[in-house]
Amino acid sequence: MFFNANRIFVYVFVAASALAGISCSTVPVNLGVAKEEVIKYYDSGMFDAAVNRTADNAISSFKNIKLTGNDAVVFDIDETALSNYDYSKENDFGYVPDLWDKWIDEAKAPAIKGVKHLYDYLISRGFKIVFITGRKEYQYKATYKNLVNAGYTKFDTLIVRLPSEYNLTALEYKSAQRTALVNHGYKIAGDVGDQYSDLEGPYHGITVKIPNYQYIIR
Ligand SMILES: [Mg+2]
Repeated sequence: MFFNANRIFVYVFVAASALAGISCSTVPVNLGVAKEEVIKYYDSGMFDAAVNRTADNAISSFKNIKLTGNDAVVFDIDETALSNYDYSKENDFGYVPDLWDKWIDEAKAPAIKGVKHLYDYLISRGFKIVFITGRKEYQYKATYKNLVNAGYTKFDTLIVRLPSEYNLTALEYKSAQRTALVNHGYKIAGDVGDQYSDLEGPYHGITVKIPNYQYIIR
């Protein structure tokens, strides 16, 4: 009897792959259930505890940096310096442009406490703070006001998107802005953001990823 070991191997491999495929395939979590889980995580204090741990770890890292002048740390704003959780929860985690603009105009987003703690530490060390946000140029004044209202009273600059930058991805826009800062003489010691698109690209220094279970920006 003809025995083709290679062919048997292929059959076994295909069968195993199919089984693996079946066993690995999952149905998504129901959206309503996912929203309930997110609300529970945030309202129970687990989210704040996670941010506090992240901030403490970041402070341990920044303690090792000796300042040499013009040392800056870049902060994102939404879901990093400021929390829009109240807006998101009230609007069932949906993005409604008019309501979002109204929320920004009200300038009442609170600080995320752990991030504010990290900011206070960096200020006390003499780091310069630069905010780079995906918010647009017509939201500059309200954003500035909200930062101050939330206790971010000292910072070097607040960078918002210009109309010519609307079409850039978050990663392209933020990378270009950090590069411009370096070209202007800043040394970027660290970068704090809730999205990986805040933290990837050139000149990020120590990266501090703030947890965000509400949305993803590529
Ligand atoms: Mg953000």
